[in-house]
Amino acid sequence: MLNTDTEVRNTRYAADDLRRLRGLLDAAGEIAIVAHYNPDGDAIGSSLGLAHVLRSAGYQVKVVLPNVAAGNLHWMPGHADILYLDQRPDEALRTVRECGLLFCLDFNRTDRVGKLEDALKAAAVKVLIDHHQEPEAFAAVSFSDTSACATCQMVFDIVSDLGLDAHITRDAAVCLYTGLVTDTGSFRFPATTPHTMRVAAQLMERGVQVASVHNAIMDDNTIDRLKLLGFTLNERMTVYPELATTVIVLSRTDLEQFNFRPGDTEGFVNYGLSIRGIRMCAFFVERPDMVKVSLRSKGTLPVDRLVKAHFNGGGHHNAAGGQTPEPLATAVDRFMALLPSFMEQHPA
Ligand code: 5GP
Ligand code: MN
Repeated sequence: MLNTDTEVRNTRYAADDLRRLRGLLDAAGEIAIVAHYNPDGDAIGSSLGLAHVLRSAGYQVKVVLPNVAAGNLHWMPGHADILYLDQRPDEALRTVRECGLLFCLDFNRTDRVGKLEDALKAAAVKVLIDHHQEPEAFAAVSFSDTSACATCQMVFDIVSDLGLDAHITRDAAVCLYTGLVTDTGSFRFPATTPHTMRVAAQLMERGVQVASVHNAIMDDNTIDRLKLLGFTLNERMTVYPELATTVIVLSRTDLEQFNFRPGDTEGFVNYGLSIRGIRMCAFFVERPDMVKVSLRSKGTLPVDRLVKAHFNGGGHHNAAGGQTPEPLATAVDRFMALLPSFMEQHPA
């Protein structure tokens, strides 16, 4: 449709949504921002990035997250001010419940925020900014773009569309850049576009030192984590060439042997996918209350469909996750039984 409103011409997002968001911001008192459970670089980066922008523009903003992020994200500017539900439950719940405007970043369903879910549902006005498939309709305004490589890219575009780009400070830029790096696998996954690179370039122009961001995220291994990786690849990875699939399985005992800390298995699934001729990697890890399943694929194999149908989850075409209450071995057996027909339905 031809957009005749000169004020919002050339925006990436719909003029109506932007206008409504602007109205909500004008009326907002205290603003809160939430992102998903086990926040990754994009969840934290988009939350802190947006918080920095809005604070610079004069708004009162708090970031609330369901649980503490992996240690390699704690260096991010503004991290110390995050209200973590598992550390300050009362303040976190109250902030979400009572804020005037709640931004919901990098998740598509209310159950993705863990024990913040009821408070989120109670919050008066919600704005969704997210790039996952099939978002639930729970927000007053929804910016959903499944083609975007990262929520951080969407936040950059929306802030620019709103005319707030002067408030993308260096701290904001560093946070947004972090989410671009982590969600694109350092600008290599297929959702990386020329626009992604232009956004990254503009963030660099605002003072991001790319080497130091990369170093802070990637070169922060503990010896335990590297040894767990070695053990995993050696002892817990099975390759099924005829099914073009790799399966990695880690038990609680395995993790405890290497003094597991949250985030330690991040990225392991990608090693399984990096093997020549392999189209999918499935990673099963035993958590205290459930088995977590992570799937990654190459090309046209829609792993989000498999987890959605069988493992109570979702995600993207090539990267999805879910969970199951059954024992670890049962979950793996069930997956193996499903695998041949799934691969047959989606030939290379
Ligand atoms: P990961 O395997 O790294 O946990 O997640 C891969 C992708 O799947 C992410 O985009 C994540 O948001 C999504 N995802 C992971 N776990 C779940 C889940 O339990 N439910 C849903 N709906 N999506 C998930
Ligand atoms: Mn994301």
